[in-house]
Amino acid sequence: MTRKSPEAIVKSLLDMLAGFPSFFLDVIQHSDLPTVTLAPLMFRVPWDLLLNDMYKDNITVAGDAMHPTTPDLGQGGCSSLEDAVVLARHIGNSFILNGKIDSRALKGYVKERRFRACLLITLSYLSGRVQQGGSGRFMKFLRDRVFYKFFGLLAGNVVNHDCGKLPSMLLTSEERNTKKLE
Ligand SMILES: Cc1cc2nc3c(=O)[nH]c(=O)nc-3n(C[C@H](O)[C@H](O)[C@H](O)COP(=O)(O)OP(=O)(O)OC[C@H]3O[C@@H](n4cnc5c(N)ncnc54)[C@H](O)[C@@H]3O)c2cc1C
Repeated sequence: MTRKSPEAIVKSLLDMLAGFPSFFLDVIQHSDLPTVTLAPLMFRVPWDLLLNDMYKDNITVAGDAMHPTTPDLGQGGCSSLEDAVVLARHIGNSFILNGKIDSRALKGYVKERRFRACLLITLSYLSGRVQQGGSGRFMKFLRDRVFYKFFGLLAGNVVNHDCGKLPSMLLTSEERNTKKLE
């Protein structure tokens, strides 16, 4: 991708959105030029998540560092927050049970997150492909008759996710023993 000046980025955006209500164009026109940059969309191919460890010793990754996703499902930030909760749960449980961050904590976190991240990356990518796939007859049929009908329902279910309950350091010894048995 050739590097564009902020002025050129603003101009190409205004050209692209010509005809939009002036409110939108005003926002673009009043951009703080030194902060305007253009970067390509990034995503990680799903099998990359399945085939790699994503943790080593006591180091792991979360959020975009783990699963950069195209923006078509609006789930990049949400799934980053999910990562944080799940990671905290695994670390918390490890502390409670072993008094330290056991290597199994990061292993458990990666194991729990990898399939969900794969699913979100894949659905987001497919969503983008279909929605921006042009106006050919096949693509229109796919988009209007299949995608919006079924994909919306599927995506609606997928984005609702329960990250589990964070452990409390105030567990009674009885609760701690029960946890050990789980
Ligand atoms: C235009 C756009 C629209 C989006 N819309 C949505 C949406 O509707 N819903 C949704 O869920 N997600 C959305 N996302 C995705 C979401 O913003 C990201 O997935 C999310 O911010 C990732 O969080 P993160 O903490 O992993 O990374 P980031 O938010 O990128 O945070 C990483 C931080 O690390 C800092 N950093 C980088 N390198 C270093 C370094 N060497 N030393 C110290 N600090 C460093 C960066 O400055 C940054 O502050 C959107 C993204 C974009 C670009």
